[in-house]
Amino acid sequence: MTSSARPHLNRRLAEFGTTIFAEMSALAVATGAINLGQGFPDTDGPEEVREAAVRALREGRGNQYPPGPGIPELRTAIAVHQQRRYGLSYDPDTEVLVTAGATEAIAAALLALVEPGDEVVALEPYYDSYAASIAMAGGTRVPVTLRPHVEERASFRLDLDELRSAVTGRTRLLLINTPHNPTGTVLTRAELAAIAELAVERDLLVVTDEVYEHLVFDDAEHLPLAAFPGMRERTVTIGSAGKTFSFTGWKVGWVTASPELTAAVRSVKQFLTYVSSGPFQYAVAEALALPDSYFEEFRRSMLARRDILARGLAEAGFEVFRPAGTYFVTTDIRPLGEKDGFAFCRALPQRAGVVAIPNAVFYDDREAGAPFVRFAFCKREETLREAVERLRAL
Ligand code: PMP
Ligand code: GLN
Repeated sequence: MTSSARPHLNRRLAEFGTTIFAEMSALAVATGAINLGQGFPDTDGPEEVREAAVRALREGRGNQYPPGPGIPELRTAIAVHQQRRYGLSYDPDTEVLVTAGATEAIAAALLALVEPGDEVVALEPYYDSYAASIAMAGGTRVPVTLRPHVEERASFRLDLDELRSAVTGRTRLLLINTPHNPTGTVLTRAELAAIAELAVERDLLVVTDEVYEHLVFDDAEHLPLAAFPGMRERTVTIGSAGKTFSFTGWKVGWVTASPELTAAVRSVKQFLTYVSSGPFQYAVAEALALPDSYFEEFRRSMLARRDILARGLAEAGFEVFRPAGTYFVTTDIRPLGEKDGFAFCRALPQRAGVVAIPNAVFYDDREAGAPFVRFAFCKREETLREAVERLRAL
């Protein structure tokens, strides 16, 4: 076959078009609608952190290639954060790796740990880069669907029996995400303990995406999977500064794991970007050392926004799944007489001047995801109030 007759994009990635985030943000720009689609704050993070980046840049720190694993100051700050928050001790030199956002950490971890033919069990709905990264690694994704429970605090829950039966002799790793995008589910201690037991019993690796670790509400608590018995040595934990410090454009993420797992992920990472975000690494090192009051205030302000959006969406007629974590609210549009989230989201900018994300893109089982639509609340309170007003007019 000539090269012009063959599709340019290789077949592993053929099913992945443009990400829904790019599509919906472009629609927001084109229509002038309020963008509650892609999850990025409409105000920047702390001024002192921004100033720390400016200082690093001016002082020439990080303007040339930083060290491959990340600057020592940041690796130490990450290790101190894991120790102080969770009692998990990691050696900054051998067990911490700085990446170009969590996105690169996810890709590098999967490319490092998965052989073609390996199965990767992931919670569905899944963050879209998981499916693409599994595909790039030649793995097979095996989704375990979180199901809506209207009675049980109106949340999406994991069925542990389904998870257990998804594991086969070909399963290489479990890909976990808590707090969970897009449902806002925070896995409980009992659920995490069961996942850990399963991983130990079946000798599985675990990659756990905890980028929303500081965004948990009400009585929910974020517990890192690596802290459960038998998990420290088999778990790759992924974090990111984007969500915690409201600088999503800086793309500073990280991995904490055993020396062997860290080395494996680093082997891939060095050929993806080698390094990134030089001056921002210095700023994030300072950000991680902010006092507890920063993290508390951040959570409090996001909680207030969650409540404005969740209440407003309920009043506008959506069924609302109140998130225990993240900065997303998943809704069911069936009470509005709608059933196709895709069609609903494509029409919403024209109908109401608001952009949202159809959760179906995060499902293999598109039917199961069809009626769910996600709204982000990491926006100014007045923006959320205006969006809610508009949606009420639907
Ligand atoms: N994982 C999840 C669950 C996310 O929602 C996101 C988006 N922030 C990422 C990873 C990617 O994070 P980053 O911007 O640090 O690459
Ligand atoms: N994590 C963000 C979200 O879920 C999007 C990041 C991206 O655009 N890739 O909205």
